Amino acid sequence: MKLDHIQVDTLVVGAGQAGIAMSEHLTTVGISHIVIEKNRIAEAWRSRRWDSLVANGPCWHDRFPNMQFDADQDSFIHHDQVAEYFENYANRFNAPVETGVEVLKAYKNKNKKGFTVETTEGIIQTQRIVVATGAFQKAIIPSIAPQQPDFYQIHSDQYRNPQDLPEGNVLVIGSGSSGVQIADEINRSGRKVYLSVGPHERPPRKYRNRDNVWWLGVLGGWDYMKSDNSPLKGLAVSGARGGVSIDFRNLAHEGITLLGMTKSFEGNKIYFQDDLQKNLKDGDQSLVEFLDSADEYVRQNELNLPLDPKAREITPDPLCVTDPILELDLKQANITTVIWASGFGFDYGWLEVNAFNEQGRPVHKQGISNERGVYFLGLPYLTGRGSSFIWGVWHDAKQIADHIQIQRSYFDYQTSQDSLDHTA
Ligand SMILES: Cc1cc2nc3c(=O)[nH]c(=O)nc-3n(C[C@H](O)[C@H](O)[C@H](O)COP(=O)(O)OP(=O)(O)OC[C@H]3O[C@@H](n4cnc5c(N)ncnc54)[C@H](O)[C@@H]3O)c2cc1C
Repeated sequence: MKLDHIQVDTLVVGAGQAGIAMSEHLTTVGISHIVIEKNRIAEAWRSRRWDSLVANGPCWHDRFPNMQFDADQDSFIHHDQVAEYFENYANRFNAPVETGVEVLKAYKNKNKKGFTVETTEGIIQTQRIVVATGAFQKAIIPSIAPQQPDFYQIHSDQYRNPQDLPEGNVLVIGSGSSGVQIADEINRSGRKVYLSVGPHERPPRKYRNRDNVWWLGVLGGWDYMKSDNSPLKGLAVSGARGGVSIDFRNLAHEGITLLGMTKSFEGNKIYFQDDLQKNLKDGDQSLVEFLDSADEYVRQNELNLPLDPKAREITPDPLCVTDPILELDLKQANITTVIWASGFGFDYGWLEVNAFNEQGRPVHKQGISNERGVYFLGLPYLTGRGSSFIWGVWHDAKQIADHIQIQRSYFDYQTSQDSLDHTA
């Protein structure tokens, strides 16, 4: 039991990018801490990504401020190198990471301050817990999915490459970054692909010689805060093939059959909503709004960026859009694989504190939870759109380290009166 009876000021759970960023900031302000990681540093970037996946943003942007990638700064880095980057980053400041240790349970102490944390390597006492276990822990497959399908059914989390899939055609459900990239890759491998497209945004990869991440920065897009009840739309953007804008109609012209939202599975039949045209039109609208804001920014700031009229061209509707398919017979369409690119959820089963609402979602303000001493990091929209991304989590971690330091100085505060004997 190598960690038994250890006491630390702050315990960070998870050594992905969030945990490493947190450790750096706690180190900078001199707060004693350890980071507990059940697998390896940056495990998600090592083993929970498909083989070809590269980062979604160019590497000048998708990184922490204090260390560059050793690569062309406009390139999109392979996920193995992203994992290596975080490992090297942690080594730079000797981050106190304990790998191969799982946190099993954490709860508030009853008769003394702080928390007890039970791990596979012993029991730790800590004053604070930073939950950096990620927002993408549990693959979510909607309840409409058949329970015992007679086809191969996986979540995008389990997809690795086209060769691993059984022979036959493939249905990909979901039009966010994962769904479009996986569908495109399988189509390019020579397989027939159907892609079920929901509401989405499709910003340009590049516009007027600036990458999408730059535009999000200057236009305030990274600071955008989603309200609790606004629906989460798929964000169709990709760094694959050097970074090209996603245009669903182009994917169709390249052989993918587009479908509306998947409605239900009944026997061999799959039914789709009649919303494909609307979803594509709304996606086009989001593109046009993005480009208009970018043009306005160029004008107001008198920038000399080249015009880019091609970015506004909308490809003609393919047949699958003008005459949408509303039902498919799996056998007739020879669909042998269904891939759900339907998103992720949290898993906080180990955290027994008063920091959750009735739906089990963390209750917090900018990561500071309802339970004093418990912090969340890495959640989507923790402080803004950037929060679940590599660059954004670093800044959120800094704010949390500040908050911890302020709390500690309140606790340590003393006046000359404190030393008087109050019992007299
Ligand atoms: C397919 C995909 C592609 C993405 N691409 C990009 C991208 O290109 N750019 C970008 O900025 N973002 C991207 N993201 C979003 C995000 O950056 C990553 O998901 C990133 O891995 C999140 O980092 P994290 O540290 O918050 O969580 P994670 O990387 O998930 O790290 C959490 C760690 O906690 C550990 N852990 C969990 N529970 C316990 C426990 N009980 N005890 C001990 N350890 C525990 C896990 O083993 C894990 O290592 C992508 C997300 C996905 C799903």
